[in-house]
Amino acid sequence: MALNIMHVDMDAFYAAVEQQDNPALKGKPVIVGGLSNRGVVSTASYEARKYGVHSAMPIVEAKRLCPEGVFLPGRHDRYAEVSRQIFEIFYHYTPLVEKLSIDEAFLDLTGCSRLFGDPIQIGKKIKEELYNKLGLTASIGLARNKFLAKLASDLDKPDGFFILEEKDIDRILEPLDISKVWGVGKKTEELLKSKGIDTIGRLKSLSLDELEMLLGKNGIQLYYLSRGIDNRKVEVNNQVKSISHEETFAENRVDKNLILASLLRMSIKVSRRLRKAGLQGSTIEIKVRYGDFTTYNRSVSLAVGTNKTDIIYEKAIYLLEKNRLLGKPIRLLGVGVSNLSPEGAQQLSLFENNIKMDKLDKTIDLLRDRFGESSVMRARNLDDFKSR
Ligand SMILES: [Mg+2]
Repeated sequence: MALNIMHVDMDAFYAAVEQQDNPALKGKPVIVGGLSNRGVVSTASYEARKYGVHSAMPIVEAKRLCPEGVFLPGRHDRYAEVSRQIFEIFYHYTPLVEKLSIDEAFLDLTGCSRLFGDPIQIGKKIKEELYNKLGLTASIGLARNKFLAKLASDLDKPDGFFILEEKDIDRILEPLDISKVWGVGKKTEELLKSKGIDTIGRLKSLSLDELEMLLGKNGIQLYYLSRGIDNRKVEVNNQVKSISHEETFAENRVDKNLILASLLRMSIKVSRRLRKAGLQGSTIEIKVRYGDFTTYNRSVSLAVGTNKTDIIYEKAIYLLEKNRLLGKPIRLLGVGVSNLSPEGAQQLSLFENNIKMDKLDKTIDLLRDRFGESSVMRARNLDDFKSR
């Protein structure tokens, strides 16, 4: 199984932002927390951690441990702003980003390698970008699933990059404290430890039945997690549901060639946006509005998702013809693709033909990026451009 899941966790985030914004604080123990002595520490810089200060500790205690510490109330608007910049960097590499908190995320890198290199190279690039653009360090864990990736990022902090390979899973997991296992809360930890189960290795000595008897459903989960098995998907929090483009014509159109020409132009736009976002979709839809404002939406599902201009265009024509939508004056036309997934999530370029289409599409994208929208036109497009 491929190492495609990445967990990125910024190091001492709030404190690091304060040190970055005010260089005088660099190298000093910075403690971000409540204004008054009644608050608790939200983040301590690594310099402050040397004094034993950690998050969730009462400020009073932190002041006792580290009297020379710089205590700051925190600027949450500023942290949110930096967080947005961090996530922009993540989205550059993959649309599959699951935000866990302001400074922590899972990234699913399945299918990204053709564009950006393998996940290890992507991890290095992300660390570089975070440092060069924002002056911040992150710890990254790379593994085959979410549970292992999160464990891994914790194994090499700060400024770490831990790649948890298949062959090392047992050796690395077994000595870890059971509290490191996702889903082991205080109660479960106490119960297990009272039975002498204190490490993941010991946890593995219990059978599935024993764990289920002891902890119910949670026990079944622990059985699998302790063996490095975790089937949870990276859940995209603000996923784009569809990508579409529609146009209202200056004059209603009835000529089939003109209509197909604009359909092709819209298919190019939509497929290009999909490719830019690293997405493909398995539902193609069209929208037709006639001069009298009656509107039809029709869609067709594909067995395999696509972001190829030719397939989107072909299916859009099929929808127009099958539903007998041509022949009346059309006021508005639209093409869309939904049921999105990351490009390459399904089998990529199985057929020679697909590779050719891929290359053609990518070449056109490149030319348009460089020389503008009208630099490349297909024969059918020419009619459409002339008529506009
Ligand atoms: Mg963090």
